[in-house]
Amino acid sequence: MYNLAGSKQDKILEVIATVNELENSLKPLKAKGLKIALVPTMGALHNGHLSLIAAAQKQADIVVCSIFVNPTQFTDPKDLEKYPRPLAHDIKMLTEAGCNFVFMPSVKEMYPQYPVPENWKIDLGNAEFLLEGEFRKGHYQGVTQIVFKLFDAVKPNSAFFGQKDFQQVLMIKNMVAVLNLDVQIITCPIIREDDGLAMSSRNIHLSNTDRKSSLVLSQALFFIGQNYNNSPLAEVLENATQIVNKPPGVILDYLTIVDGDTLLPITEKSTRNTVALVAAKVGETRLIDNIIIN
Ligand code: AMP
Repeated sequence: MYNLAGSKQDKILEVIATVNELENSLKPLKAKGLKIALVPTMGALHNGHLSLIAAAQKQADIVVCSIFVNPTQFTDPKDLEKYPRPLAHDIKMLTEAGCNFVFMPSVKEMYPQYPVPENWKIDLGNAEFLLEGEFRKGHYQGVTQIVFKLFDAVKPNSAFFGQKDFQQVLMIKNMVAVLNLDVQIITCPIIREDDGLAMSSRNIHLSNTDRKSSLVLSQALFFIGQNYNNSPLAEVLENATQIVNKPPGVILDYLTIVDGDTLLPITEKSTRNTVALVAAKVGETRLIDNIIIN
């Protein structure tokens, strides 16, 4: 069925709903020695997601994209309820992208006891409780729980994640290290709209005014990137914070410059692994973004 030598359009997208079916479909491909890449998503696909699929296609023979709105990582039930689920659009995008498999399980398939929580946790280190972990308690246990289950179902050679969720990639790398999992984690750059806003499935919730206001997030990060080397750290942060706080309706959760491994704020300038991260509510929509400074 797979014409790996042919064009992307020659491939057929196989839609799979159960772990059993997925394992059975992948088994013969693995037996042939084909390399499998996994791209986990929550759907409402945009060009950011497609960049991960494209990167995975370059590196692997078979690409599995998962679409699962994972309830255990949501801390706000309203956010879970209103999360966009345009399935027909997603399937069309994945077909056009030449993705091989889309895994779209039900909640019961991934969490048989749902809504009773599963009683296991992974030691993700102290960074679990900082930044997003502080504002969304338990979020990264939910994220790593589902990513572990997806890794277990697919047993991919590699998995592709976006730098857009910088802390998420760090948590997944920590999980892979602590559980000694045999999967390569690859981070892909942030894809932005032409005006700088980081693409996100949540952007469709922005009203016209919110959409304009949302630009202050990337503007503040770009400001930090441009001024980090020339001005005192506190001054750069102060000015960037003022950029975010300017439009009414933007409520800043955090804007910080941290060490990329510990996520602790840097107190003096560093020449390695420094990241600026921002999270803010724009109207009713909470957005995150970041920029790697060096
Ligand atoms: P999500 O569907 O939002 O859970 O995202 C699925 C994957 O796509 C995650 O690894 C995200 O970091 C990544 N992603 C989301 N938005 C972007 C973006 N604008 N650029 C690159 N990757 C992204």
